[in-house]
Amino acid sequence: MFDYMLTKEQIKLRDEVRDFIKWVPRQLVLDMDKDIIKFPKDFLREAGRRNLMGCRYPKKWGGRDMDWVSTGMVMEEVGTIGYELACVFGVGSELVCDAIIHHGTDEQKEKYVKPLLRGDIFAAECLTEPRGGSDFFGATSKAEDMGDYFLLNGQKRFIVGGEGADYFLVYAKTNFEPDAKPQDSITAFIVDRISGVETKYLYNLMGCRGGGTARLVFHDVKVPKENILGRLNGAYAVFNTMMIPERLGTAIMTLGSARVALEIATHYTTRRKAFGVTINNFQGVSFQVAEAAMLLDAARAMGYATCRAVDAGVSMDRTRRMISESKKFITESCQKIVHNAMQVTGGIGYTNVFPLERIYRDVRLATIWTGTSEVMAMIVAHEWYREYLKARATKLTRDFETDAEEAFVEDEKIYE
Ligand SMILES: Cc1cc2nc3c(=O)[nH]c(=O)nc-3n(C[C@H](O)[C@H](O)[C@H](O)COP(=O)(O)OP(=O)(O)OC[C@H]3O[C@@H](n4cnc5c(N)ncnc54)[C@H](O)[C@@H]3O)c2cc1C
Repeated sequence: MFDYMLTKEQIKLRDEVRDFIKWVPRQLVLDMDKDIIKFPKDFLREAGRRNLMGCRYPKKWGGRDMDWVSTGMVMEEVGTIGYELACVFGVGSELVCDAIIHHGTDEQKEKYVKPLLRGDIFAAECLTEPRGGSDFFGATSKAEDMGDYFLLNGQKRFIVGGEGADYFLVYAKTNFEPDAKPQDSITAFIVDRISGVETKYLYNLMGCRGGGTARLVFHDVKVPKENILGRLNGAYAVFNTMMIPERLGTAIMTLGSARVALEIATHYTTRRKAFGVTINNFQGVSFQVAEAAMLLDAARAMGYATCRAVDAGVSMDRTRRMISESKKFITESCQKIVHNAMQVTGGIGYTNVFPLERIYRDVRLATIWTGTSEVMAMIVAHEWYREYLKARATKLTRDFETDAEEAFVEDEKIYE
């Protein structure tokens, strides 16, 4: 952690989170990895009891009136105990509650945010469908207006907390006009686990186990009208703000897991001997550790710079680019860090004598969920070109292209 960037209040919160992480029973981590525990309610109850969730929300709703840098710091620290524990910590309190805080009514905040942050109830986010997750606006789950309520039908896939959550944030199509734009056709709903909501299938995952990741089926679920989040057909706005915690939070928590892997590997390489010397004396080993340390610092710097951008209220377009860059760079860097950590521990790193193999399996998810690396690159490219062309059109900066001897030989500047 960059301690020098934190205020006294943030350092106090960090130490509270570290104390919480020390509290987490070892057996919980092991049992989740074996899927013996399906969803870690006791972990979330304790986080709630300690008031660690949603620190950036107003105190009135159970938060601490802090900022995104504080949230990033909390997510990094929670990530140290395991990527899946950070997933369940984040999905309810940092994603679903963020959407309700930004778009919900006071009644919704009272009913769904406050008890969740206390650790009394649990939530899941239902965006991905079996037909695809990257194309959010292709949602086929639908909710029909029946007068007093909406009738929800459809399926959502890979939902963390599909087993365990008490309520769900569900995106469903509500505008069936043939020429309606996809951005104006979807509504976000808060759906309680009531009749018609079925946890149909629990996935056998490579890693990130024990978080109740499931396929959910919604069959003729009667959703009261007051459970619309934001506007009817207004899910685009909810989606836009939600992508901040969805991508920035999940990126930063990867740093915690990668940090642990690097620390384990560093310790190991100062003790393990080969050819009569400890292996950190070999550049082949220490340079891999150095590369991992460098990537960790670079990724963290990017993550916290992006948190600052969100706190500063930088424009949505710029923030979207920075968040997408952070998601891709941090998660890919963390995978490389864990790869190096396993490499320098040799064969034993590949066994469950050290937790490196679990961390390796867990963080593999990081470049896939909450928007794949490919989708992040697509957004970065889109926003970068738009930003650059807009800036160029203002002609406020020097035209660097003319700083070449033959810059004005126009016949040689062929573009088509
Ligand atoms: C363990 C786990 C937990 C999850 N938790 C949740 C959750 O709690 N809630 C939730 O809603 N979702 C969740 N997800 C879903 C996750 O966000 C999606 O899996 C992810 O967004 C990718 O969607 P997809 O699997 O349908 O892949 P697809 O969208 O089918 O993509 C397949 C491949 O095609 C690539 N691709 C797609 N479109 C493009 C494009 N335009 N350009 C270039 N490449 C492209 C993708 O990058 C990917 O490599 C979870 C997934 C997993 C595995």
